[in-house]
Amino acid sequence: MFSESERPARARTTILTSPSPRRKEAKPLTYLPTNSLGQNLPISEYFGSMTFGLGQFREKLPRETYNNLVKVLEQGKKLDRETANACASVIEDWALSKGVTHFCHWFQPMTGLTAEKHDAFISIHTAYHSELTVVEKFTGSQLIQGEPDASSFPSGGMRTTFEARGYTVWDPTSPLFISEGETGKTLCIPTVFFGYHGEALDNKTPLLRSVQALSREAMAFLKLIGDVDVKAITATLGCEQEYFLIDKRFAALRPDITMTGRTLLGSPSHRGQQLEDHYFGSIPSRVIAFMEELEHELFRLGIPVKTRHNEVAPSQFELAPIFENVNVASDHNVLTMETLKRVANVHGLTCLLHEKPFARINGSGKHCNWSMSNDKGENLLEPGKTPHQNIRFLAVLSVVLKAVFEHSDVLRYSIASPGNDHRLGANEAPPAIISVFLGNTLSKILDSIETGAATEIAEGKMIDLGVTHLPDILRDNTDRNRTSPFAFTGNKFEFRAVGSSANVAVPLTFLNAAVADAFAQATEKLKKLIDSKGNRDEGIMELIREYIKTSKAVRFEGNNYSQEWRDEAKKRGLPIMDSSADALPVLENVANTEFLVKQKVLTREEIKSRHHIGVERYVKTLMIEFSTLSELATNFVVPAVETQIAQTGAAMTSITAAGVAGAGIKARVKKMNEVYEQILGEQTKLNEIISELDGITSEDAQMKLIAKKGIPARDALRNACDLAETLVSDDLWPLPKYREMLFDK
Ligand code: ADP
Ligand code: MG
Repeated sequence: MFSESERPARARTTILTSPSPRRKEAKPLTYLPTNSLGQNLPISEYFGSMTFGLGQFREKLPRETYNNLVKVLEQGKKLDRETANACASVIEDWALSKGVTHFCHWFQPMTGLTAEKHDAFISIHTAYHSELTVVEKFTGSQLIQGEPDASSFPSGGMRTTFEARGYTVWDPTSPLFISEGETGKTLCIPTVFFGYHGEALDNKTPLLRSVQALSREAMAFLKLIGDVDVKAITATLGCEQEYFLIDKRFAALRPDITMTGRTLLGSPSHRGQQLEDHYFGSIPSRVIAFMEELEHELFRLGIPVKTRHNEVAPSQFELAPIFENVNVASDHNVLTMETLKRVANVHGLTCLLHEKPFARINGSGKHCNWSMSNDKGENLLEPGKTPHQNIRFLAVLSVVLKAVFEHSDVLRYSIASPGNDHRLGANEAPPAIISVFLGNTLSKILDSIETGAATEIAEGKMIDLGVTHLPDILRDNTDRNRTSPFAFTGNKFEFRAVGSSANVAVPLTFLNAAVADAFAQATEKLKKLIDSKGNRDEGIMELIREYIKTSKAVRFEGNNYSQEWRDEAKKRGLPIMDSSADALPVLENVANTEFLVKQKVLTREEIKSRHHIGVERYVKTLMIEFSTLSELATNFVVPAVETQIAQTGAAMTSITAAGVAGAGIKARVKKMNEVYEQILGEQTKLNEIISELDGITSEDAQMKLIAKKGIPARDALRNACDLAETLVSDDLWPLPKYREMLFDK
């Protein structure tokens, strides 16, 4: 932000002529640790240095205490006081040695963000004659449980204020970490957050429950198909995070970016992404400096970021970590988003995580690569060396297909947000219809199983139903379909419809729960099939065959952007929900959400509360957009157009006074006046809708009105303003333009 003395009278033009902060300082990067020769240290030397997880517990705790901790983790039991105290003591030693002064319970309320309340590591000794001495102290109970005032966090009507008590409880399955401010350090303890009666008030609790459900149901199934020694199943997740970077001083001059995280108006620059020159292009040096510092920070936090590159749109980038278990990966993604913003700021940049920061160029998503693995680390979606592993692969695959088919409405719900509405269905992201892409080879394999006929699936390779050759065939034949929302990519699924700003705990909770439910059903069915066939493998193949048949409607290999697919999907009876206003009500459908209750992932009350919060957040987000846009029109666009009309009008007067014909300039003034009237007219309409919304008390009714009338009115006003931008002189336009924000590196 500018200090008062720095704030230029015409901020935009001054900005354009002053160098960016990083360039002005032109300092070498000093934050990357180097050896005595000034060379960067290998990442392994500082990876995870700011975290404390099971590895350190094993090293520092007495063996018996450590075993207790592991038992608690494995069985999901409550930690006893003695073990907790021992854990707290080794954590305290470590934290103090790192210069940490405070600790906090770090949790993820249903706002989609994280929350923390800091406490100092001190306790007071009242000594003789009441002198105070302060000592560092951190106890087991401080580690395990906290009690923030929950009344300011959304509960979706689950609690009244008098029972606003909320508890945070340590989640030992995710490592503790140190967060660094400008001058101090805080130990962050990952926690779950719930209310007095145990109701989940956060996004992490349901995720953990969904992992438990998945593990329970998948194990029962796997045992039945012959994996008798399986001890645990976990879901794995790797999130590809997209984001935009723009000069921070541009962002500060745009009230829309400040208030909503995206531009609400702005005429497109003539060059957008049509030259296709940004994707994988060389990364600008200022951005590389940012990325290097970002990665250094993430490595120290134990986040295994692996790839970085430019994305399709100008000023758009992506990073991807190596996958981890879903709970840790989800925490790590939240931390990554926070670190992106923090480090960008240091580099004079603003990181935009919104799904659609700029109109008419690609928005940002977050592909969630998901699979499951057993306690031996074997990926259940990877065919293996033995025929059994291959049958297991096909069985698990068919269960996932069944899950996505049966619960596609809930999965669509799980990715709904006002930001993501701009992407889904806009031919830049998978459409709002959930379907599965398997690729040519796998589709042929499933088809041949379904019909019972051997088929040639790759040149010269026949599929025998003993499925021995599966692994080689799949490895060599994984084709890609960028338009599919849920695509098989060799040994995992890629849930591609998730928005860039989403807390991935939400979609992953519903995905895990859907698959857990499908496993539970499959186990029941398979028991009967084995009985009737009298042979296990035959029973399994029969189950696979049936599931391939029943879930066939959800498989689609073609272009998901096409109108034909929309028509086809409609014929197949797949749910089509174009906007959040269509998708959010899914949670009201008791029958379709029953599996969440059955799998103990969410109670009926928790489902209701999530529905309320979803609708409330939708309404509030769009109301903020509407009023911000209206204000932008009044305070920026309208005065600029007026000044331009006055200038051009004066020129017109001079030209006519000079006695020369003034047709051209008259036309210009007329055109500008038309646009001016258009802006005022559209703004009036939007303001009327804002007043109407203010007068409605039911949030559901507000949501419907917003979707039906508010959004079209917002878009109409925007279009009029964007037209004005093309007519007003560059030096009169008060807002940073797309050209400047997107191409100034
Ligand atoms: P792709 O070429 O399909 O995008 P990458 O190897 O680049 O594949 O991986 C993309 C993301 O998928 C990475 O975050 C990666 O760690 C993750 N990933 C790979 N295998 C798995 C798995 N078994 N489960 C979850 N995520 C995975
Ligand atoms: Mg990918």
